[in-house]
Amino acid sequence: MDRKLNLVRFVSVERMMRIILARGVEPVLRELAAAIEEDFRRWEHFDKTARVASHSREGVIELMPTSDGGQYAFKYVNGHPRNTRDGLQTVTAFGMLADVATGYPVLLSEMTILTALRTAATSAMAARHLAPAGARVMALIGNGAQSEFQALAFKAVLGIDRLRLHDIDPAASRRCAANLSRYGFTIEICETAESAVLGADIITTATADKANATILTDNMVGAGVHINAVGGDCPGKTELHADILRRSSIFVEYPPQTRIEGEIQQLPRDYPVVEMWRVVAGLQPGRREAREITLFDSVGFAIEDFSALRWLARAAEESGQYDELDLLADPDEPRDLFGMLLRAEAA
Ligand code: NAD
Repeated sequence: MDRKLNLVRFVSVERMMRIILARGVEPVLRELAAAIEEDFRRWEHFDKTARVASHSREGVIELMPTSDGGQYAFKYVNGHPRNTRDGLQTVTAFGMLADVATGYPVLLSEMTILTALRTAATSAMAARHLAPAGARVMALIGNGAQSEFQALAFKAVLGIDRLRLHDIDPAASRRCAANLSRYGFTIEICETAESAVLGADIITTATADKANATILTDNMVGAGVHINAVGGDCPGKTELHADILRRSSIFVEYPPQTRIEGEIQQLPRDYPVVEMWRVVAGLQPGRREAREITLFDSVGFAIEDFSALRWLARAAEESGQYDELDLLADPDEPRDLFGMLLRAEAA
C-alpha cells in the first residue's frame, strides 16, 4: 500500500452550517471573538504581511497568509461588489490550516460563512474596547451578506438590542429585518443614512461599492459615537468622509495593510493611528472619554482568519463534522513518488 493515512480534514459549506447551527450562532460569535482576542494579545508572535491583492476592474482577489510558528494559515478571498447583480456573492472565501513542523496541511475549509462570522466577531471584540459604555443602539448601513452577522455579534458580545437599518435597496433592509426577527432585536428600517444614525451609540457601515463613497458625512456623526467601518477595504473603496477621520481616534488591525486599504488611505501616510492589538494587550487605552469619537477602520487581517481556522479545527473535531480529503500524494517510500504512479498503473 502506497497510501498512508495523510488525509486532510475538509469542512464543506454543508458541514460548516451544521457546526454553527448545533453550537448556536451567538455562542459561535462569542467563541470566535474570544479566539481572536487571544491571538491579538499574542500579536507579536505572528508572521505578518499585508495581504497580496490582485485587482481588476470588477473587484479584487486576495491571499492572506500568517503563522504563529506552530501553525500556518492562509485564506483566498474575493471582493466583487457588482457580483450580486448576476446572482453571485460579493465575497467568497476558502482557506487552510497547516502544521509548520511538517508543512502538511491539516484542515481545508469553506470560509465564506466563516469570514462573515470572524469579521463580525472582530468588530464586536474591538467595540468592547471602544464603544461608549452601556451602548444599546446600533445603526447598520449596508444590509447585505455581512449585516445579520454584524448585528448578532454586537448582540452576543455587547448586548446591542436595537437596530436602525438602512440600505439603498430597501428590499435588502427588509430581508435583514426578517432574518433577524427571532433574535429579540427592536428593529427600525430607515429611509436615509441620516435618519439611521439618529440616536445610535454605534454606527456600522458595511456597504459594497468599488468607489470612494460617502456613506457618512461629518455632520452625521455626533460626539461619543463608535464607528465600525467594515466596507472600505480596498484602494479606491472607502465609506467615510475624510473629515470624520480627523475628528476620530482611529484604531486599525495591521497599519501597513490598512494604510493601503482602509479609510485612512484618505489621510497622510504618517497620520497617527492605534494598533488594535495594543489596546487588547493593555498597552494603550481604547476609549478614553465619553465624548470621544472612536473609529475601528476594519479591513480584515490574516490573524483573524488564523484564529477562526484554529477555532474551527477544534469545533470540527468535537462534532465530527468533517470529511477526509485525499489531497497529498504520500508514497510509502517518500522519495519514490514516480514509483507510486507506476504501481497505480500496474494495479
Ligand atoms: P453585499 O454586496 O452582500 O452587501 C452590500 C450592501 O450594501 C448591499 O445591500 C447594497 O445595496 C448596500 N449598499 C451599497 N451602496 C450603499 C450606499 N451608498 N448606502 C447604503 N447601502 C449601500 O456585501 P457584503 O458581503 O455584505 O460586504 C459588505 C462590505 O464589507 C463589502 O464592501 C466587503 O468588501 C466588506 N467586507 C469587509 C470585511 C472586513 O474584514 N473588513 C470582511 C468581509 C466583507
